[in-house]
Amino acid sequence: MKKIGFLGLGHMGGPMAANLVKAGYEVCAFDPAPAAQERARADGATVMTTAREAAVDRDVVITMLPDGKLVLDVYAELLPAAEPGTLFIDCSTIDVADAKAAAAQAEAVGHRPLDAPVSGGVAGATAGTLTFMVGGATADFAEAREVLEVMGGKVVHCGEAGVGQAAKICNNMLLGISMIGLSEALVLGERLGLSHQSFFDVVSTASGQSWALTSYCPVPGPVPASPANHDYQPGFATALMSKDLTLAANALRANGIDGRLGQLAAAIYERFNHTDVGRDFSAIITDIRDRSGE
Ligand code: NAD
Repeated sequence: MKKIGFLGLGHMGGPMAANLVKAGYEVCAFDPAPAAQERARADGATVMTTAREAAVDRDVVITMLPDGKLVLDVYAELLPAAEPGTLFIDCSTIDVADAKAAAAQAEAVGHRPLDAPVSGGVAGATAGTLTFMVGGATADFAEAREVLEVMGGKVVHCGEAGVGQAAKICNNMLLGISMIGLSEALVLGERLGLSHQSFFDVVSTASGQSWALTSYCPVPGPVPASPANHDYQPGFATALMSKDLTLAANALRANGIDGRLGQLAAAIYERFNHTDVGRDFSAIITDIRDRSGE
């Protein structure tokens, strides 16, 4: 399995494709953005002039695109162009229903689809240490593993088509909720005279402990690498958290779950995203502080 088509060479897809080239794969890539094309060429990929060309005569076709509608549009163009039996791996974060629809369309014309969204951000994509959450047939997962392990440090088969996306939105819903809860507690502590460091020293080893606190603390000081120490430069941008929480909220509704915190987290981040474009999602604490008056 040496010949790969790669579509979507943005913040994530660019470095992922570069890692595949470094590992010896022959990568034919496509992205309509000239800057992305230039970077991919410099990284050693062959840049094609249309999406369709990137899927011809490939063992594996990987997509890393902004949303589900685009994945479905691009699949409509790629599926007829690829050799039957091609492994189609979609790494974008998209709606579970769109992931299932994309898989059904690929299967209907004899291809082998996997949904394989990632966590780990641009740093993980660059270092080749992403976590892949994969949905699809066991045999197809087994065959894709070698390629995914070039781009990732951890590769988990979560279940059938769409279940990789399910893992992704469940994780990010929990992260969004826990960042809001942590930020409310920190602002309450500030008001009650509790320093950030004392809060951290107690809570980081007490029952309120969370990844959001110990690895991504939303105030400067306790965790030097967290975006709070760098003016909330992302990191994981608020726009992306808002997108993932909207996907989670839609899934809560579609499946009849009484997910009040998930819905509320989606609404809180949607509002914040309109007023605060571009910062890391942990900057939500500044919004809570601003809205808390004196
Ligand atoms: P991005 O906007 O930087 O990249 C998307 C790329 O797709 C762009 O370069 C765009 O030109 C290209 N594109 C648009 N239409 C295309 C087409 N028809 N054919 C080929 N390419 C096309 O986005 P990103 O940050 O790289 O994110 C990609 C996906 O990964 C999203 O679904 C996002 O939710 C997910 N994700 C992002 C992060 C992150 O930290 N950035 C982390 C985890 C998951």
